[in-house]
Amino acid sequence: MDLVIARPEGLYCPAGNFYIDPWRPVDRAVVTHAHSDHARRGNRHYLAAAPGEAVLRARLGDIDLQVLPYGQVLAHHGVRLSFHPAGHVLGSAQVRLEFEGEVWVVSGDYKLEDDGTCTPFEPVRCHTFVTESTFGLPIYRWLPQTQVFAGIDEWWRANADAGRASVLYCYAFGKAQRILHGLDTSDRPVLVHGAVAPLNEAYRDGGVALAPTRLLTEVSDTDVIRRALILAPPSAGGTPWIRRVGEHADAFASGWMLLRGNRRRRGVDRGFVLSDHADWPGLQAAIAATGAERVVVTHGSVDTLVRWLLDQGLQASGFATQYGDEDQGPG
Ligand SMILES: [Zn+2]
Ligand SMILES: [Zn+2]
Repeated sequence: MDLVIARPEGLYCPAGNFYIDPWRPVDRAVVTHAHSDHARRGNRHYLAAAPGEAVLRARLGDIDLQVLPYGQVLAHHGVRLSFHPAGHVLGSAQVRLEFEGEVWVVSGDYKLEDDGTCTPFEPVRCHTFVTESTFGLPIYRWLPQTQVFAGIDEWWRANADAGRASVLYCYAFGKAQRILHGLDTSDRPVLVHGAVAPLNEAYRDGGVALAPTRLLTEVSDTDVIRRALILAPPSAGGTPWIRRVGEHADAFASGWMLLRGNRRRRGVDRGFVLSDHADWPGLQAAIAATGAERVVVTHGSVDTLVRWLLDQGLQASGFATQYGDEDQGPG
């Protein structure tokens, strides 16, 4: 019996009568993390991992939300459900389902590298693993994040020395906080766009150490702005907000920056390859660690990963879902 099937509303657990990350409004939604393509408005009840409560409320407002600490089991219609860290963003979880001896794990989005802003990914043994494949192509291999942060630091220093502000476009939830945690900002100011600030607060409330930040709109001293790193969602480009910055260099931080065409399309000076998703070796390692004999791929490069899994002798197929990628969205 399949513990999870694809329905027009989203991924559905027939035995438990609930959905996981549904894209249409349902009665009971189990949510893996607060990115907008996985956590949508309009569901009657929400269940999520406890560390994600503040970010979910920051994004979805006043919802009927029940939370469960990582590893704690909730029994519902005979299905034993528990959340396990996915290492993607604060509160992100894999959903483990156990019913009549069968174990399925739905990953949501995940990455294996520990970035210090959320509980690191934890492999969970299962019979069937439902995985993302956002960067499921052999070309996607990430450098260690320390090298990426060193590159950002060097770029920022060179700009500041030349009297230019440094505008770094990045997704407002997850990526921005990862940068604020990973960069050494002790001798230079960091300014943020209004879309980034509430997420920073949710992370700080959750005990994650982030560099001190101020809103760009609260700073009028151009000497400060010229030395600053300014974090903004991609949607802020070309708006009146960016004109406050004056002369600046710009860059974009995303896994997609690995491809030169994407850098050109964004029209920025620099691309920093920094992703909150597993790269190709990461997907393979995560799948192997589950011990699953069957894998279902939900989004990204579904066909490529399915073909590779079949070549490994595993059962593999895809689900048609409506998950996108936060970095490609409006920000
Ligand atoms: Zn995500
Ligand atoms: Zn996703």
